[in-house]
Amino acid sequence: MTVLTARSRRRSLDRLRPPEAITARAAPKLRPLKIAMLAPPWIPVPALGYGGVESVVSDLTEALVTRGHDVTMFCAPGSRSAARIITLLDAAHPDEIERSLYESDHVARAFAFIDEARADEPFDVIHDHCGFTALAMADRIDTPVVHTLHGSFTASTSEFYEHHGHKAALVGISQAQLGTAPDGLESAAVIANPIDMTAWPLQREKADYLLWIGRMTEEKGPHRAIEAARAANVPLILAGVIQPGQQAFYDREIAPHVDGQKVRFVGEVGGSAKRSLFANARALLMPIRWEEPFGMVMVEALACGTPVIAFREGAARELVVDGETGFLVDDEAEMAAAIGRLHMIGPAACRTWVAEHCDISVVAPAYEHAYREALNRVPIGVAAYA
Ligand code: UDP
Repeated sequence: MTVLTARSRRRSLDRLRPPEAITARAAPKLRPLKIAMLAPPWIPVPALGYGGVESVVSDLTEALVTRGHDVTMFCAPGSRSAARIITLLDAAHPDEIERSLYESDHVARAFAFIDEARADEPFDVIHDHCGFTALAMADRIDTPVVHTLHGSFTASTSEFYEHHGHKAALVGISQAQLGTAPDGLESAAVIANPIDMTAWPLQREKADYLLWIGRMTEEKGPHRAIEAARAANVPLILAGVIQPGQQAFYDREIAPHVDGQKVRFVGEVGGSAKRSLFANARALLMPIRWEEPFGMVMVEALACGTPVIAFREGAARELVVDGETGFLVDDEAEMAAAIGRLHMIGPAACRTWVAEHCDISVVAPAYEHAYREALNRVPIGVAAYA
């Protein structure tokens, strides 16, 4: 695992920030774009509960519409947006995520729609968040494709990207993610996942509990959060979804510890109940054991002034500034010790970091730039549009 030095860390944080020229000065002089936003077919946008990609797609789409672009979102039935919505399948498929039957059906229909539109009102760009099908077929459609890399790289996905990565403009979501990418992908742009901070107000007063929230898997570490919170003698609230295949892990590793007091499990949460859980927590615990490519929950916690204590893995090394917005630790014992140092972290510092790196006002212009580069096929300076 690459350990970032202070200098490389600063560089990586800076790369999450779009060049200043892009953010304010150039955009208003450019013509609006006609954008096909290709959301996954699994969960309606925005997700009412679990759904990191869907929250990214939602915040970005709404911001692009507000900024004057003509956005059509291809998404699961039940989605809501200020953009034009096109649903292609009869139902959402939250329990069949990544099943190719639905993904290929959704993408093929979207491509047909986009192809037909070429005669009258052609799309400038397709922004694909959809897994693998659209990227694999991106050279079969005339409209340029920007593909956000939402996942981590495994042996098989690396091989896939080696074959198909050149067919679209790729956007990574952290330096850590691209650090594990196959050859040729290291130079992809990095744009942080966005959050609309207006929906996540700062809260300075905290209640006496720690929060873990996410998927009930070994890699996300809810059982390690229990161990650390126990050792620190602070109550823990676990929230999250038990997806197909995860029940045995929950029954074995979590259920025996849930006592309704020191350890509570509140199931899948959404909306204002979820935001309040984040805002009131003393800290978010992220005892991850994998190369997590981003981790929306860290940004959500920080946005409302809740520090994050994370294992030094994946993008946590970029999203948590050790000693300023939380702590980076190596195991459960260090996590428990860091809980005792939470008084050193100021809520405002946590929020400021997110405002500077991940707020939608920063991320939307970065994607506009990526779209215009894809549209012109060759990297160009922003000044060329002025
Ligand atoms: N989430 C939610 N309710 C839950 C659990 C998770 O709304 O009960 C949301 C969470 O707020 C975040 C997303 O689901 O927006 C999870 O995204 P993240 O990047 O943290 O994890 P991953 O995509 O790896 O599951």
